[in-house]
Amino acid sequence: MAKRSNLTVLQLLPSLVNPAQALARPPISKFHVGAIGYGSSGRIFFGGNLEFPGLPLHYSVHAEQFLVTNLSIHNESKLEYVAVSAAPCGHCRQFLQEIRGAPDIKILITSAESGDDNSGLNRFDPLLHLLPHRFGPEDLLGGDVPLLLEHHHNGLSFLGETEILTNDFKLNAELKVAALEAANKSYAPYSGCPSGVAILDCDGNVYKGSYMESAAYNPSMGPVQSALVAYIVGGGAGYEKIVGAVLVEKDGVLVKQEHTARLLLQAISPKLEFRVFHCASGLNACKKS
Ligand SMILES: [Zn+2]
Repeated sequence: MAKRSNLTVLQLLPSLVNPAQALARPPISKFHVGAIGYGSSGRIFFGGNLEFPGLPLHYSVHAEQFLVTNLSIHNESKLEYVAVSAAPCGHCRQFLQEIRGAPDIKILITSAESGDDNSGLNRFDPLLHLLPHRFGPEDLLGGDVPLLLEHHHNGLSFLGETEILTNDFKLNAELKVAALEAANKSYAPYSGCPSGVAILDCDGNVYKGSYMESAAYNPSMGPVQSALVAYIVGGGAGYEKIVGAVLVEKDGVLVKQEHTARLLLQAISPKLEFRVFHCASGLNACKKS
């Protein structure tokens, strides 16, 4: 597209924000936010905001969170440029701090530009300008801890394969494995409570999402929300097509996803079947609840 338009890829980014807005799902605010990100590999990713009627507003996913989740799903290790339709809120400026080199991420707000004309006049500002005096991972973690988007494996595993599959939940085993993979990829350095969710649609497709924490806690991204990002990125249509979900998390830990995950899943697809598997790193066996 850039070649055809005789533009650089960075000049092209703002023109992709409108299509990203069209993919947002904000039935409460009707305020569509679109974000386009440029990763260090040169790949381009989109994000849009998600809202869930019948639930508190803090279940919402912001476009920038969606974008970062999309990078994570595709194993993109760094975010370098973002073009977004509206000024990033404080919540998102904070969430982005989990990425290595966050102060240098360049942000362009298309609604603040004088016309979306790809003229090269668009201006990217470093995140540092949007959030000076930052509070971030370095305030709470050691310097050798992998940050969000950086490769890591949480070492969770199932011991034994004694789980009896139920007839009414045919892909139980596949979902369980996918949810474990998502939990192993989860970014939970603050609580030490990683988790992952896998969801199944009526066509048999599986989508998985990892829990991702923020140093400021509240902007953290739940595993169901992450799986819904994967669902939308993968072309998933209405949420009512989601028929099953599995959550994997550690048992007896300080931060648990089970109850809020169930609330969100029931709100978006009341008939879906939900299973939780408790796991631990090391030698603890898993069990179903
Ligand atoms: Zn936001």
